[in-house]
Amino acid sequence: MIIDKAEVIVTSPDRNFVTLKLTTDDGLTGLGDATLNGRELAVVSYLSEHVVPLLLGRDASRIEDAWQFLYRSAYWRRGPVTMAAIAAVDMALWDIKGKAAGMPVYQLLGGASRSGLLAYGHASGKDTDELFDSVREHQEHGYRAIRVQTGVPGLKSIYGIASNATYEANAGVRYDHEPAQRGGLPNEEDWDTRSYLRHIPTVFEAVRNEFGPELPLLHDGHHRMTPIQAAQLGKSLEPYDLFWLEDCTPAENQEALRLVRQHTTTPLAIGEIFNTVWDYQQIVREQLIDYVRSAVTHTGGITHLKKVLDYASQYQIKSGMHGPTDISPVGMAAAMHLGLAIHNFGIQEYMKHGEKTDAVFQQSYTWADGFLHPGEQPGLGVELDVDEAGKYPYIRAYLPYNRLADGTVHDW
Ligand SMILES: [Mg+2]
Repeated sequence: MIIDKAEVIVTSPDRNFVTLKLTTDDGLTGLGDATLNGRELAVVSYLSEHVVPLLLGRDASRIEDAWQFLYRSAYWRRGPVTMAAIAAVDMALWDIKGKAAGMPVYQLLGGASRSGLLAYGHASGKDTDELFDSVREHQEHGYRAIRVQTGVPGLKSIYGIASNATYEANAGVRYDHEPAQRGGLPNEEDWDTRSYLRHIPTVFEAVRNEFGPELPLLHDGHHRMTPIQAAQLGKSLEPYDLFWLEDCTPAENQEALRLVRQHTTTPLAIGEIFNTVWDYQQIVREQLIDYVRSAVTHTGGITHLKKVLDYASQYQIKSGMHGPTDISPVGMAAAMHLGLAIHNFGIQEYMKHGEKTDAVFQQSYTWADGFLHPGEQPGLGVELDVDEAGKYPYIRAYLPYNRLADGTVHDW
């Protein structure tokens, strides 16, 4: 099992994806997702220029050794580009190991701890009527847990809501499905935290009145609040029994969560932009969060995210792995194998990819009745059709950014 070929494949069927494909001397192949939304080619360069030469001739069976070698030998550690590149290698090696063993990766991680993975989808609307339609549509598609995002009176276009301008610019791809705009420069959005804090509790009250107490509801604050504002929101949402409030503050400052926790019992989820266990050190040890949001793709692969989640499990903190459409089907499959195997699985974010993406990446994972399953194919269970991928060249895309009414740049 010597690696004798390593290819970095960029394709843009519905959006940009970066995939590492490793081939061994005995003909086994493995795929890894290295997609970093809006900064894709930085990871392509990191892999092609710096990692691929290190992989050729290595023993593909030594996954932990490859991880430690790539992390420590670079000297410069952590960061989304580095950790996405390492993640791609790690996933591809787990894929190869599964194929060599004739087993799905979840079996190599200890076997199934459950029969399927509860997943949540994204409902959104500019107003309550549109939001209710979106919630119903998700329920019709089988979702048993739903994230709710809504427009705020006075703001033109905010995170998670389909704005007509972005919808048209993205050729009919709904904003809530893909906020990154292809071609051109990033969209500017507007933000006002006080308007948001006044409005959101009224939305959750309306949703609970319409859909009842059982439906698990989630909400994403997208890093926009100060600690005391986040505390205020968590407290005001307590009557509506949220499954979680996500990214309530920009959590680079881990201590900020102490203040939020002192004021609210609304469960907190953090970490989609984190990439190592060190980002979680304080907030896990002090039990300041309830769910770990990291994706396999951005957190050094299955090997490293499993360590993060094993650490979190000692504090009854569960997984809530990031799963928007910029996680490729390879990255989603890796999340499902890991989620099926660990004891402290919480929920999986899941947005269906588009038809073109599904044609490029043939998947064996399944979605039925609100639950995902990675399938029983050896390895990760996803294959990439190189000819199909070649039809869709890279298109530069940017995520939007925010300004306040006085022109100040704010967290998006
Ligand atoms: Mg989020």
